[in-house]
Amino acid sequence: MNRFVQPIPPPADPYASDALLRSWLERHLGPAGHAAAKGRLADLAADVTGPLRAAHADAEAHPPTLVRYDAWGARIDRIDTSAGWQAQRAAAARHAVVALPYLPDARGTWGAAARVVQHALLHLYGPESATFSCPVAMADGAAALLSSPDADAGVRDAWLPRLISTDPATAITSGQWMTESQGGSDLGRSSTVGRPAADGSWRLTGEKWFCSAADAAMAVALARPEGAGRGSRVLAPFLVPRYAADSPLAVGAAADAPAPGVTVHRLKDKLGTRALPTAEIGLHDAYAVPLGDPAVPGLVRAMTLVVVTRVHNAAAAAGGMRRGLAYARAYADVRHVAGGALASSPLHRATLGTLAVDAAGAFALAGHAFALLGRVEVGADPEAAAELRIVAPLAKLATGRLAVSSASEYVESFGGAGYVEDTGVPRLLRDAQVLPIWEGTTNVLALDVLRALTREDAGVPLLSRLAAAVDLARPLSPVLADTLAAAAAQLGDTIASVTVDPGAPTVLAGARGLALRLAYALTTALLVEHAAWGDEQAELAARLWARRWLRREDIAEDAHHHLDLLC
Ligand SMILES: Cc1cc2nc3c(=O)[nH]c(=O)nc-3n(C[C@H](O)[C@H](O)[C@H](O)COP(=O)(O)OP(=O)(O)OC[C@H]3O[C@@H](n4cnc5c(N)ncnc54)[C@H](O)[C@@H]3O)c2cc1C
Repeated sequence: MNRFVQPIPPPADPYASDALLRSWLERHLGPAGHAAAKGRLADLAADVTGPLRAAHADAEAHPPTLVRYDAWGARIDRIDTSAGWQAQRAAAARHAVVALPYLPDARGTWGAAARVVQHALLHLYGPESATFSCPVAMADGAAALLSSPDADAGVRDAWLPRLISTDPATAITSGQWMTESQGGSDLGRSSTVGRPAADGSWRLTGEKWFCSAADAAMAVALARPEGAGRGSRVLAPFLVPRYAADSPLAVGAAADAPAPGVTVHRLKDKLGTRALPTAEIGLHDAYAVPLGDPAVPGLVRAMTLVVVTRVHNAAAAAGGMRRGLAYARAYADVRHVAGGALASSPLHRATLGTLAVDAAGAFALAGHAFALLGRVEVGADPEAAAELRIVAPLAKLATGRLAVSSASEYVESFGGAGYVEDTGVPRLLRDAQVLPIWEGTTNVLALDVLRALTREDAGVPLLSRLAAAVDLARPLSPVLADTLAAAAAQLGDTIASVTVDPGAPTVLAGARGLALRLAYALTTALLVEHAAWGDEQAELAARLWARRWLRREDIAEDAHHHLDLLC
């Protein structure tokens, strides 16, 4: 008897097959700008469907290991990573996924929209990166911090070129050492202390509990300058060289030995992000240089980095959702059930169509955050800065949750095969679950949104975007315009009422609900803007998104009918 073996289609080109990504680039970059980006995007897409897929599988199958001692008993704390992880590292540099927005020729070609091109690169790269997207995000955050006028020019010149190098032989990434065991969200309890040394450098002592990219050449660590007092505001960012090669305190040590005072206690055994080395790291009088004046409260400076990593998190969520959708759709085309292709089942089509609406919304939200970030960095646009203040946490929290719910559906859409490791499908779910946790959980970000609304008037730019989108929606669909107008009015009332007593228990209890409603309304507006520019898929996605997330209606019937336009 012949044994049935399910044929699996080769992965589609993620750039050529993503109509929403392409039209988004056409709108934000203009035809000439998009044409200028096409070579880069096509090259990366070709790598993603070939060598990087294989590198991803290799990196997942061979997680990092910590070698604490050499043969003679010397402490070496070496983190060994797989060939796949190294291939991902090289690809990230070669394709400029960190560097692009800092490169003078990219800024010359695309101006502020260099960040839009970078988002497109991340959208393609992230899902097959074995979560190398995490070191990429932190390297970008460190590069942004080093680029700020606060950073010492000597420190910038020594480190920034390495972070934004496109040569795999010289490119480095960065870690970000913030979380301590007594407090990740509650940074006010941080106990790592910084002491000035005679030569103007500093020494850090403390314990860091979650340090991803623990093999990176440097980290940005938060520490409390000695005598600075309590609370989180005074915490200051410091650059810590990870290896002896970059530490002036290391005399006669091998270049790849840990910098004196930096000890890797152990690697975390995690649910997902398995290829990514995440360590517990001890600091004992470790050499560090301040990023900005440590005498000036530094948490605000560190936010430059955090905003960047939050928008990267949104990109990772949206990119993963889009790739999961592509896999599930391709599988449905070849898998047969009840006498026909799974893709012809109205019920399965409705499931995939609903996921496609969520993927489109997440993409627009992440894309908008990158567009704003570019405008802040190039031209110091104050309106963009005011909007980014609230869009960064909103994009991160809303896409993180959508990524988890979508990934669960993608796994289910493969049936039993989706639960089997070597199909590569389970990692979609494992790797999605970190997205709502790190860089601020949903609730922690919801409180940040509440602070932005009540202390910084961040509702103003958001409500004005919603009002403009209502006008744009009117000629497309009066129902859509009315839905968005009603949501905006309700949000305006809620923002006014929470501002009266932001600390009231009922206000705090409702912070997550408010943040999500804001994110859903903003996403509708962003899809409407793209639809008004002339994108048919965005128009459909806007209508279905508004029904699903603003009116809480079941969109199965339309999702089934229009699946082919949605993905
Ligand atoms: C895979 C992975 C990689 C990571 N990499 C890094 C890294 O490289 N660098 C780094 O610094 N950190 C890293 N982290 C740590 C991560 O940022 C923290 O775990 C996260 O910020 C949450 O902090 P916590 O673990 O202390 O949880 P807690 O802050 O204790 O949170 C526990 C629960 O309390 C809730 N909570 C907290 N505060 C409030 C509040 N005020 N009101 C209501 N609810 C609240 C949270 O929502 C959560 O549900 C990583 C985490 C993971 C899982």
